[in-house]
This record gives sequence, structure tokens and C-alpha cells, in this order.
Amino acid sequence: MINIKGLSFSYKDKKILKNLNITIEENDKVAIIGPSGCGKSTLLYCLAGIHKSVNGDINWKYKPEIGLILQEYGLFPWKTVYDNVKLGLVVGKKKKTVKEDEILITLKQFDLLEHKDKYPSQLSGGQKQRVAIARTMILKPGLLLMDEPFSSLDAITREQLQNDLLNLYNTHSMTSVLVTHNIEEAVFMANKIWVMNTKGNIISTLNNQYFGDPEFRQKLDFYKVCLKIRSILEGNSERIYQEI
Ligand code: ADP
Ligand code: MG
Repeated sequence: MINIKGLSFSYKDKKILKNLNITIEENDKVAIIGPSGCGKSTLLYCLAGIHKSVNGDINWKYKPEIGLILQEYGLFPWKTVYDNVKLGLVVGKKKKTVKEDEILITLKQFDLLEHKDKYPSQLSGGQKQRVAIARTMILKPGLLLMDEPFSSLDAITREQLQNDLLNLYNTHSMTSVLVTHNIEEAVFMANKIWVMNTKGNIISTLNNQYFGDPEFRQKLDFYKVCLKIRSILEGNSERIYQEI
């Protein structure tokens, strides 16, 4: 879908991303993991086209419609769940007329039907994030970009939403990039994991052959992959590899 060679990006004179080479294939689920401040969000915004002055050789095979989900939900507090989801269709200008059926199906898919007339303030964090995802997914974006979408949720809710998103991945063909600082999340949610260091480099690209297994968290291999990534992040991969 996209091939980038030598991507660099600076805020004013502060160089953030340095000479990144990136490939995203159709149907890839990429996770970008790295320490806070390393440039994960910046990279996502470069992919989204929000940052314009990006250096590098960027080749889109075709330009997909892009859906972007941010950490803080971005819901309209004065609109109901139904209207917030409906807004995805209106803002995206996907269709001129909004079909009620489509909104109801999407609400059902994200387990929000019984909350459709509530306002965001009446929802839990997990439910708010579901509305935010539903609102983006109703547009059926060709590329879904997510910036730490689950990071403000408690551990149990986060796993539930990860399960739901994985289920969506397994039933609908889609391409996505997920930014996270959570190792387990990257390992559960991606077939390709890009590990970044504090200097704004991608130091490792892992292919996760186990991706897509809803039971993966319960398996020993899950912890092995997590350990591998932890060791890369800590900069001592050689030693840990041999212990596995
Ligand atoms: P991450 O998402 O990995 O935590 P960011 O991409 O948000 O990191 O930020 C990378 C670096 O760029 C940080 O040092 C941050 O302070 C800096 N930065 C982010 N946004 C801006 C901005 N608009 N102007 C200047 N510096 C920024
Ligand atoms: Mg960030």
C-alpha cells in the first residue's frame, strides 16, 4: 500500500524522525512501539498526511481513505452516541444520505445499541472509545491509524476492546497502524511490529506469525514474543534471545 524510503521529519530545527524505511502491505496490522517521546505520534501524523513538510521518498500504491483515532476520544459532548456515530458518515462525506440501518448495524457491532440515546458524559471510558472507533469504522477507511487508543482504559476494559478489534480484523479485511507503548498490546494486535528507540529510529521490524489468534495471550509463545520486544527496547536482545 505504501513504501517509504528515507523518511525524516523535524519540528523547527529539532530532528525527530531519522531516515526511516517503511513498507505497509495491504491487510497489514502494524504496531509502532517505543518509549514516550520517541516520535510515534509524529510518525503516525506523517502517515496521515497531517505533517506536510516530510522528507523522503513516499510512494503510495494508491491513496486510501484514512481513518484516524486519537487517545482522547474526540466525541461531541452535546451529541448522543447515535449522533456521534452518524457524524462519521456526515463528516467523511462517504454518502450523501445517511442510512439509519447502517448506523444501527454499526452500533450493534460495537455493543452500543442500548446506549444509543446517551451522551458521552454518561458513558464509561471503554464505551466512549467504542463510540470513537465506531464513528471511524462506519466510514470503512482503507487505512486505519490509531494513536494509543486504549491507553487511558483499565486493564480489563483494554483487553476487551483489543479482543473486539481483533475480531473485527479477523472478519473484515483492513489495513491498520496502531501506536502503543504497551508491549502486550503490540504483540496481540499486530502482524508487524516496529520498535523505535529514543532517537527516532526504527531499530527492529518483527513479523509476528502468531497474529490473529484470539487465545494468543494464554500461550507461552505470547510471552516469548513479549520478552523479545522487551529485550530489544532495553537494548540487550542478544542475551535474552539465547535464554529463550
Ligand atoms: P511519542 O508519541 O512517541 O510519545 P511524539 O511524536 O509525540 O512522541 O513526540 C516526539 C518528540 O517531538 C518529543 O520530544 C516531543 O516533545 C516533540 N514534539 C511533539 N510535537 C511537537 C510540536 N508540535 N512541536 C515541537 N516539538 C514537538
Ligand atoms: Mg504519542
